[in-house]
Amino acid sequence: MTQDFIHIDGSHGEGGGQIVRSSLALSLVTGRPVVIQDIRAGRSKPGLMRQHLTAVNAATQIGNAQVTGAEIGSRSLTFVPQQPTAGEYQFSIGTAGSTTLVLQTILPALLLAEGPSRVVLEGGTHNQWAPPFDFLQRAYLPLINRMGPRVTVELERHGFYPAGGGRFVVEIEPSATLHGFDLLERGELNSRTATALVANLPSNIAEREVHTILHKMTWDHECGCAQEVPANGPGNVVFAALEYEHVTEVCTGFGRIGASAEVVAKEVVRDLRNYLKSDAPVGTYLADQLMLPLGISAWQSGSHQRGGTFRTLPLTRHSTTHIELLRQILGIEINVSTNQPDGSVTIHILPT
Ligand code: ATP
Repeated sequence: MTQDFIHIDGSHGEGGGQIVRSSLALSLVTGRPVVIQDIRAGRSKPGLMRQHLTAVNAATQIGNAQVTGAEIGSRSLTFVPQQPTAGEYQFSIGTAGSTTLVLQTILPALLLAEGPSRVVLEGGTHNQWAPPFDFLQRAYLPLINRMGPRVTVELERHGFYPAGGGRFVVEIEPSATLHGFDLLERGELNSRTATALVANLPSNIAEREVHTILHKMTWDHECGCAQEVPANGPGNVVFAALEYEHVTEVCTGFGRIGASAEVVAKEVVRDLRNYLKSDAPVGTYLADQLMLPLGISAWQSGSHQRGGTFRTLPLTRHSTTHIELLRQILGIEINVSTNQPDGSVTIHILPT
């Protein structure tokens, strides 16, 4: 039995939580058991934290899996899944940990499951170092929906660090296969918007953030929106969305103690400028997230197009680590070529 396990080195490359989540996601999809060792060895507090444990528990429930090592602080995990089951699920992190990262662990299996699913997630919805809800909804899911399934999300309550208490609902209409696609051009720019949200904090924080982005980017007044939202505790997030014909990029800044509204907004401006320096359609965060569904598409038989090619900004360590993990688990080919003069990178994800 043990020889069937895929052995994953959790300390490899970036050495963070993504290795755990993607290994579980791919174990569910392929049906192959995994052993993950040295979990999050690259972090100052290694091992599973609550957000990762919720992802492990969610994957265990959906795959009716046998698991060992599923506890806080655990540095190794074995995971033996069965056929994933579609249905109604609810996962609560219990802290402000990122709900969108929990979703990304189980979503691939539910995209291919034998019936529709409805998943309720509770915890943080707008966390630094994780995809904020708006990124999930506007940048990531439209590309997933291009692959065949139909996924919709509805935010019921914002959840910010440290109070958490956010909630969103995901409805998934699966598809038998994930069809790949090529994403080489952005297409026409359809809209650009800057949105700042505050919860239980003075509204002028959001107004100053929007003002800073509009001023620095020389965007029209109508592109901005400052809003107060209800939440369990204080919170502030500001994001700018560039909606093109073929892709949407969402750059986000997270309000925090010690950073003024202007500083947070300038972080968004920096990311926007970085994205606009090149004409590559796929931004740095979307790149590492898009590899997984396209990898599954390359691995599966029966799709109209298996895998795909996309153009992105220079690769982050998350992306290079992810490429190696996908090659190892799925046995697919991923080629990377750098384009001159802008340094953008083309990723080809191909069946073997
Ligand atoms: P750690 O082990 O570092 O505590 P983690 O489990 O929180 O890690 P990472 O392994 O760092 O997570 O993965 C974070 C994921 O969140 C990556 O896929 C990255 O693309 C995504 N991400 C981070 N920040 C953003 C952002 N601002 N917008 C969109 N996606 C983001």
